[in-house]
Amino acid sequence: MSALAERLGEVNSRIANAANQHNRAVEDITLIVVTKNHPAELAVSLLELGQKNFGENKDQEASAKALKVREIAPQFQPIWHFVGQLQSNKAKSVLSYAAVLHSLDRESLLKELNKQLDRDEQKRLKVFIELNLTDDPNRGGLYPDKLSEFAEQVLASPRLDLLGVMGVASLDGPAEADFERIAKASQILQTISPDARFISAGMSADFEMAIGFGATHIRVGTAITGKRQ
Ligand SMILES: *Cc1c(COP(=O)(O)O)cnc(C)c1O
Repeated sequence: MSALAERLGEVNSRIANAANQHNRAVEDITLIVVTKNHPAELAVSLLELGQKNFGENKDQEASAKALKVREIAPQFQPIWHFVGQLQSNKAKSVLSYAAVLHSLDRESLLKELNKQLDRDEQKRLKVFIELNLTDDPNRGGLYPDKLSEFAEQVLASPRLDLLGVMGVASLDGPAEADFERIAKASQILQTISPDARFISAGMSADFEMAIGFGATHIRVGTAITGKRQ
């Protein structure tokens, strides 16, 4: 077995164990492999191993990679998730390849997405609202106290499907507190929209803990892909 296959298998079994431990169904947890800073060929190798969901955080890299994967491996249908901060002028491009946006965090981006979606009647986009769990406004994300108001605007957008909330736990502080805040925000969101019950949280260092706090979509890079350049 290749090293890549081993690492993917290892992460999948850790997900299963964490789900078990927290009385959760493993089918309720989606593994997104973050392939940023790695070539399209790595995504193709992962597709050959049965992996379907991929995450990227820069439009320029992601759009080229999605295209290349389709060129060299047209037999697969990868699902691309955009997980990074998104400038509004990149919304149109992201819509051309991504099925899910994890980082909807402000009105200007929402407006641009709606404008672009209005141009193509076939198109829809699944979105998570990203929360900012820090005091630093430059980190991206919406402050949790603004969630209900913003969620109402997203729900009023006919071509967006609101999946839930997304958060990145701070690297310095204890991740538990952050995952707890994400879980609480999710509860509040579900009082407005019961369908928006999904939680995107957890990365290589903390995905098992995130599963304990209800994460349904975990975004794992280095634990599977190895170190990024
Ligand atoms: C890079 C990235 C990840 C994956 O991080 P790892 O620590 O490599 O698992 C997850 N989420 C976001 C938003 C990222 O940018």
